[in-house]
Amino acid sequence: MLNPPSLFGSAPHPAYLGTFHPGQPVTVLGAGFSGLWMAYRLQQSGYQVQVLEPSSRVGGLIQTQKRPHGPVETAAHSLLVTPAVARCFDDLGVPLVGVHPSSRARFFVKNGTLTRWPLGLKASFRTLFGLGRTFNDSRSDIALSEWCDQTLGPDATRELLAPFTTGVFACHPSELDLDLAFPMLRPQQGQTLWAHFRMRKKQNSAPRGIMMAPRDGMQSLLDALADRMKPVITTGVDVRDLTPHLIAARGEKSNVVLTQPAHVLGGQWSNLTDPNLRADFEPLGLDLSQIKYSGLVTVTVFFKHSAFKQPPRGVGVLIKRGESYRTLGVLFNSSAFPNRVYAEEWVSTTWMFGGTQDPSALTLSDADLHHLITTESQRLLGAKPGTSPVAFHITRWPHAIPVYNAHLKHTLVRARAVLERNPGILWFNNATGKVALRGMIEGLS
Ligand SMILES: Cc1cc2nc3c(=O)[nH]c(=O)nc-3n(C[C@H](O)[C@H](O)[C@H](O)COP(=O)(O)OP(=O)(O)OC[C@H]3O[C@@H](n4cnc5c(N)ncnc54)[C@H](O)[C@@H]3O)c2cc1C
Repeated sequence: MLNPPSLFGSAPHPAYLGTFHPGQPVTVLGAGFSGLWMAYRLQQSGYQVQVLEPSSRVGGLIQTQKRPHGPVETAAHSLLVTPAVARCFDDLGVPLVGVHPSSRARFFVKNGTLTRWPLGLKASFRTLFGLGRTFNDSRSDIALSEWCDQTLGPDATRELLAPFTTGVFACHPSELDLDLAFPMLRPQQGQTLWAHFRMRKKQNSAPRGIMMAPRDGMQSLLDALADRMKPVITTGVDVRDLTPHLIAARGEKSNVVLTQPAHVLGGQWSNLTDPNLRADFEPLGLDLSQIKYSGLVTVTVFFKHSAFKQPPRGVGVLIKRGESYRTLGVLFNSSAFPNRVYAEEWVSTTWMFGGTQDPSALTLSDADLHHLITTESQRLLGAKPGTSPVAFHITRWPHAIPVYNAHLKHTLVRARAVLERNPGILWFNNATGKVALRGMIEGLS
């Protein structure tokens, strides 16, 4: 039987909140990755599980669409593979592929052009010296950008960190809470960053993980989970009122795991029909409703090989705001991974727009996006003038990624307290500590 506390590990921000009534049946609400993974892990541990999903398909944000020129990912496309992640994929029989050895380069943009390292000599030295600077900020709420300004310096914040957080969280580092988004980066008071990293390396000998992707697309991970859980998944069931599930959990007869997006859950916790439950959950419902999400538009674009003198080679490029591009970054799908095009003559790329710094990108029409990509691909990737891509596949996510800011951190603290008073009610998804699949997998491993 699953030993609930062991799932929390000792991480300051565990992957899920709440405690189980050991041995009692579990209803998981939501069949995105977090719902399916939680259900699968519980079933493996001997729990009787059912999964209820309002939509007609499982997978939530993640889907691999088979299009004429190649597969198109609507959300996660790759992940960092650590031993726990490798075990998960092995166990589910989902093959992984690594980045092509000659395509490992990651690019930034400096003054309009691609570069492997955007800092000049002086700024590079300033950043390097930052490793030896003592960290003396004892505040509990520190933005990631403040941490970087104080340690590595503002050049590193602007040129390295900002494009990186745009790529992962679709927001600026000033919006991210250091302890929630990157708890491993905070040195102790009076410690240098260099000493901090050395100490962490000594304490944590686990490999850092390598970037890989499921050979047949991310959907194959979801399909494998759904296949194992098929008899207990019901789609097309929209549980609008959580009251019966929460009351059953209070009666110690069952457990409920809430994996729906935080903004949906917030509305549901503010809407309970039972007055006792309302007293406990309603204030939290408001907190949840105020969790900020970045919106994203992703466009997978297929070009003909002949559109380039030399097609882009590498993993992709991240672009800081202030450069003369609207796109946040481009993934070079067919250069990085095998099986991303159905014929050698095609080149597959994925373009990202929006994020918290450009919310109006969500309102760009298909024609606007076509025009933007056609012109930016010429300047950024050297596509030949007069050529245009052969196919565009657009996905718009108004609530793509929760912003890991101080509000979310404080909401998690309050939610943990409420859920500790209410065993049998659990919350697990990409807002409860880990936004990437690697963290969610490790959090229940
Ligand atoms: C564009 C993009 C690119 C990304 N790239 C990567 C990447 O490369 N690597 C990586 O590791 N991560 C990546 N991510 C993050 C990752 O894809 C997500 O964090 C993850 O898929 C979220 O899973 P989830 O189950 O928490 O949420 P969701 O996928 O949103 O699933 C929530 C589920 O709850 C259901 N639901 C909604 N309302 C209710 C209700 N009332 N009751 C019950 N269920 C309900 C929904 O229908 C859905 O099925 C990316 C995300 C985006 C948007």
